[in-house]
Amino acid sequence: MNKFAIAIHGGAGTILRSSMTAEKELNYKKGLEDAIISGEKILSAGGSSLDAVEAAIRSLEDHPLFNAGRGAVFTNDEKNEMDASIMEGKTLMAGAVTGVKNIKNPISLAKTVMQESEHVFLSGLGAMEFAEKMKLEFAPDEYFFVEQRYNQLLQAKETDSITMDHNDSKSTGKDKTGTVGCVALDVHGNLAAGTSTGGMTNKKFGRVGDSPMIGAGTYANNNSCAISCTGHGEFFIRAVVAYDISCLMEYKGLTLKQACDLVVNKKLVAFGGEGGLIAMDANGNIELPFNSEGMYRATKKSGEELFIGIYRD
Ligand code: ASP
Repeated sequence: MNKFAIAIHGGAGTILRSSMTAEKELNYKKGLEDAIISGEKILSAGGSSLDAVEAAIRSLEDHPLFNAGRGAVFTNDEKNEMDASIMEGKTLMAGAVTGVKNIKNPISLAKTVMQESEHVFLSGLGAMEFAEKMKLEFAPDEYFFVEQRYNQLLQAKETDSITMDHNDSKSTGKDKTGTVGCVALDVHGNLAAGTSTGGMTNKKFGRVGDSPMIGAGTYANNNSCAISCTGHGEFFIRAVVAYDISCLMEYKGLTLKQACDLVVNKKLVAFGGEGGLIAMDANGNIELPFNSEGMYRATKKSGEELFIGIYRD
């Protein structure tokens, strides 16, 4: 059997050991493990990387600790507006949604946009109308109410800051990150990538981050790599992070590692863009670079041990 590989993230940010309880750490790790196993099952049975990416992300979206789906952060007007995107490396087909509410699994909506619509990117009410037509699952407001997230909103409102999700509460709040993502290589040699998020706490005016933008937060191309980003979206959009890494590989011949180092640890750092990403090339090599304190992450390759990490070391 050809080899397969999968990597996931559950957000990057100021994740400090000192502010983590053993119980919470265990919950995060269990959430990551369950998600990667749901993707791995599909890959080991010969399924597609696209389906594996969707399954792993659905599992993270259903988990209240991650900033996507059920655990999505609150907007300034106390709503949960979610963004998601997915891309297939073989065909360069992609689907994305932004500003959707009450959709249980936005990643499945993004995949449905890719497979069943004649468009790539749907927003707000139109995206929800399409979801209804395609019979995607909706959930009531209460399903998305997670107390910790609501408190984060109240805290952000106090200082009028737009914040990201995973952060030590003692820090300024400017550098919180969340979001979930997955990249995978299937036994047929095809790459796929997907990202799903609630965006940033206290976001206003229909703000859209990098996560649903093909080329910024998500990209997959069998000729180069599959990427899913997490971090301060405004910077990731301006640096076109995911596509930049792909271009450095495709046009300049950099390895996955060289391209990731250049973009995450040099370009983004010089720019002031905090965050990280998961990356995989067509040989199943994986890179998990981040310039923040930590990034929730996990990897599994065929025939190898599961790896789960949170902090830098
Ligand atoms: N990149 C996401 C956004 O800006 C946030 C995150 O990764 O936590 O919407």
